[in-house]
Amino acid sequence: MRANYHTHTFRCKHATGTEREYVENAIENGIKILGFSDHTPYLFSDEYSTHIRMKMGELEEYITTVLELKREYQKDIEIHVGLEVEYFSDFFDELYRELEQYPLEYFLLATHWYRNSHKTDPYFGIYTEEGRILDNYYQQAVEGMKRGCFTYFAHPDLINYPSNTERYKQTMKKVCRVANQYDVPLEINLRGVRLGKQYPNGDFWKIAGEEKCKVIIGCDAHTPDELDYQVPYEQAMEYVKKYNLQLIEEVTFKPWK
Ligand SMILES: [Zn+2]
Ligand SMILES: [Zn+2]
Repeated sequence: MRANYHTHTFRCKHATGTEREYVENAIENGIKILGFSDHTPYLFSDEYSTHIRMKMGELEEYITTVLELKREYQKDIEIHVGLEVEYFSDFFDELYRELEQYPLEYFLLATHWYRNSHKTDPYFGIYTEEGRILDNYYQQAVEGMKRGCFTYFAHPDLINYPSNTERYKQTMKKVCRVANQYDVPLEINLRGVRLGKQYPNGDFWKIAGEEKCKVIIGCDAHTPDELDYQVPYEQAMEYVKKYNLQLIEEVTFKPWK
C-alpha cells in the first residue's frame, strides 16, 4: 500500500494516538504517502457538538501539528493534512467558508448520519428498511460529490439497508454514475474489513465494478496500529479481483478554494 489518505487522531474523541505515532507506524509499514483526515469540526446553528469530532477551536493546532511533522519527516514520508467531512446541506456552506481560512489540502466525503446528525438523527450504520433513510444517504452522497471539492468518497457502502433489494441497487448505481461523472474515487474501507462491519458490501462493489468506478483503499486508522494494513488489505484485494474493480493507488487532490 503506497498511500493511505484516511487517518484519524485522538482529537476526534473516538480514536487514539498522536499524529507522530501515526507517522512512525506508517513509515514502519512502508507507506510512502500518509494523509490525515480527522473528522471535521462542524458549525451547527445551536452549537450542538457531537462526541465524535474535534471542536473548531482545535482545528488550527491539528493542522499545525501535521504540517510540522510533514517538514520533520520529509525525507521518510510524504505527509498531507485534510479532513473527513459530511455533506450536511443545512450547515455545509458555513463550514466551508470557515475552513477556507486554513491551509487544508483535501477533503474526504463521508456519509455517517441521517440528515444533520442532530440529536435523534440515526447513524446510517444502524440497520434500516426505511426508504427515506436510503434516500437521504443518496442525497448527501450525490450533492456532496457534485460540489466538486471532495478528493474521494470514504466507505460509500456504509449504509445498512438491505442491499439485495432493487431499490438499493438502483440507488447505488446512480451514486456510482455521479462518482464517475465528477471523478470521485470510491474507497474500500479497511476498518470495515478489520472490524467485520456491514461494509465493504459485496453488492455495492459489484455495482461499482460494472460501472467501472475508480476505487482506492483506505485504512481509516483510528489507532496507529491500524496502519499495519496487511491482513485487511488482502481481503480488500479479493473484492478488487472478484468485481474487477479499477484500483488506483494515489489520488490528485481536488482543488477546493
Ligand atoms: Zn471515526
Ligand atoms: Zn474515517
